[in-house]
Amino acid sequence: MNESFLLYHEPVFRPPAEADSVIVQVTLGCKWNQCRFCEMYSTKKFAVKSFETLEKEVTLLAGLHPETARVFLGDGDIFSADKDFVVKTLQLIKRSFPNLKRISAYASSREMGKYTAEELTEIKKAGLSLLYVGIESGDDEVLFMVKKGVTALQQINTLKQARQIGFKLSVMILNGLGGKKYSTQHAINSALLLNEIQPELLSLLVISFPMGQDHFRSRLDEDFHPLSQLETLKEMRLLIQYLELNQTVFRSDHASNYLVFRGGLNRDKERFLHQLDHIIENTVHIPRTRLRQQASFL
Ligand code: SF4
Repeated sequence: MNESFLLYHEPVFRPPAEADSVIVQVTLGCKWNQCRFCEMYSTKKFAVKSFETLEKEVTLLAGLHPETARVFLGDGDIFSADKDFVVKTLQLIKRSFPNLKRISAYASSREMGKYTAEELTEIKKAGLSLLYVGIESGDDEVLFMVKKGVTALQQINTLKQARQIGFKLSVMILNGLGGKKYSTQHAINSALLLNEIQPELLSLLVISFPMGQDHFRSRLDEDFHPLSQLETLKEMRLLIQYLELNQTVFRSDHASNYLVFRGGLNRDKERFLHQLDHIIENTVHIPRTRLRQQASFL
């Protein structure tokens, strides 16, 4: 058996932008693993790998991919490991890949918020530079409903601090997460939270139900009425309307999105709103693929 097959505990996830990165799986699964909308690591028991195992795996990966410029740290949240372990791992990776330009990881505000500013600074200096953070919502009622385990204010404080320390942030918001009941406050409060943080990258995804809507509903303590296609677009419009981001690159190009947008929010905001208005006014119900094509021609 090829030894490289021994490295990864499936399933392995990485952001689309990390398609060319070497993945070093530092932790397995998600320590929290309770968010009601998330099934990513529901089949995995959380664990932090031993440093001895990581040393062997990184040596093997460096031999297989000696020119690697980017490394992504799996799985769900690098800050669920302790600071000394993370620093030691980063130093190991930097030593092993001589052409390395970037180390990135998924991170949660909840676990990152347990680190002191000094500890985060040490990790930044050791080489971790880009964090992918699922904010999901800036609204406390939505965050509570889906059991995100963190409030909007905690997210603002933690992520502002991360920005001040020098981490680049690529953050995600989930369109439709609050259903019909919380749609307006979800859109507005998410925009206000993002305005505070000013992330480098913002991805808007649409909530999907990989195990069905009934399964999702069964995990909530209250009723949930999903948005229609039109309501999803209107919520997206409201979010963008309230965003005041100076240098953020915006993307809605995930498979879940109805509309594919990519651009700078300071430069392209009016164009996005104009296109959304056009589509909202003219949409009765168009299959998602056709809507994506229609948007790209506007
Ligand atoms: S913290 Fe992230 S990976 Fe863990 S359950 Fe929540 S959304 Fe899923």
